[in-house]
Amino acid sequence: MSGIYLHIPFCKQSCSYCDFYFVTRTGEQPDFVESMVREIHSYADTDFVNEKVETLYIGGGTPSLLSTEQLEQLMEAVRDTFDTDIRETTIEMNPDDVTKEYLDALRDMGINRVSMGVQSFNPELLKFMNRAHDRQEALKCLELLSKSGFQTFTVDLIYGNPGQSLEELEDDVRELLQFDPPHVSAYSLTIESGTRLGKQVELGRLTPPEDDKVSDHFMLLNELLSNAGVYRYEVSNYSKPGHEAIHNSNYWKHHNYIGMGPGAHSFWWEQDALAERWNNKADLRNYIKFKQTANRDNITEEKDNLSRLELSEERIMMGLRTREGITLKEMEERYGYLFGERQIEYLRKRASEGKVNLTKDGRIVLTDIGIVIADAIILDLITLH
Ligand code: SF4
Repeated sequence: MSGIYLHIPFCKQSCSYCDFYFVTRTGEQPDFVESMVREIHSYADTDFVNEKVETLYIGGGTPSLLSTEQLEQLMEAVRDTFDTDIRETTIEMNPDDVTKEYLDALRDMGINRVSMGVQSFNPELLKFMNRAHDRQEALKCLELLSKSGFQTFTVDLIYGNPGQSLEELEDDVRELLQFDPPHVSAYSLTIESGTRLGKQVELGRLTPPEDDKVSDHFMLLNELLSNAGVYRYEVSNYSKPGHEAIHNSNYWKHHNYIGMGPGAHSFWWEQDALAERWNNKADLRNYIKFKQTANRDNITEEKDNLSRLELSEERIMMGLRTREGITLKEMEERYGYLFGERQIEYLRKRASEGKVNLTKDGRIVLTDIGIVIADAIILDLITLH
């Protein structure tokens, strides 16, 4: 089973923290859609179509800037080209694009999951993030979404903003919980160089919050969401039972996926062969030429081959960030990775501190205390191999 990711690289304006690939010009949308249809079709004669496609994720950028007709064209191209048995089709949306008619049309075309980029309801924070929507639009879109009959939906929140108090975070979470979201993705603000916030930090105009403060935010979020029956199943993802994201969960388990559109990544691993990872160039103008040339080499960058050890370490990193964790058996059978004595000793020690659960049948899971310092535990563990 594999997944498909379509990257729609258009945004109304540039959010201050964002380091995804996007452009704020929208005149190129028709050409882009033509190119993307062509790129999807270009997979028709490849081995990639032999694996059934289980999930489709339309992300960005802002996919909700495309018309429903354009989205339908892309979905049709996927169905025509790949062997599909799609259980989950997600589209990312921004609150300022939501109307009842648009939501109804998305649902009617088979999209069954909406990911809404709310981030906050606090007017000051929305301004700080330079989001295109305001508080009223955030409330209105969730009102419409919660009544729209989608099988499931998810809402993005950002916490750990400079100057954000615990009370402000609590207000954001309580406002969100009024709409009974089945799934929430909550990210602590990361300030990347090259973003507007990154530049402000370099100029000394902004100080990122301290780690302790961010941990307090994380603990509060956990508590408020789990009290509402929305449980953490990955460090940034929470859901009601049965509403976990299939597409993203598959990334963490090294399932295969093809990413299309400028800047999209792909991963393919046939057992007994080397795993491959490649990405499309993050360049819309170049991508648009694909509609004439249809030469995939012109839009992709070099491929990386990943060794078993690299894959094992990635799996440990991604798996230990999830509620399921990893098992010694899976690591040995799928990756040929054996945990050494020093690693087991380290895990026992962390278990005695209440940071790790290490079960008799060899499952390793980080506890609520351990997950706060997941990166440090994972790094120690990998280094001790
Ligand atoms: S809408 Fe999303 S992709 Fe676009 S700039 Fe904002 S965060 Fe980045």
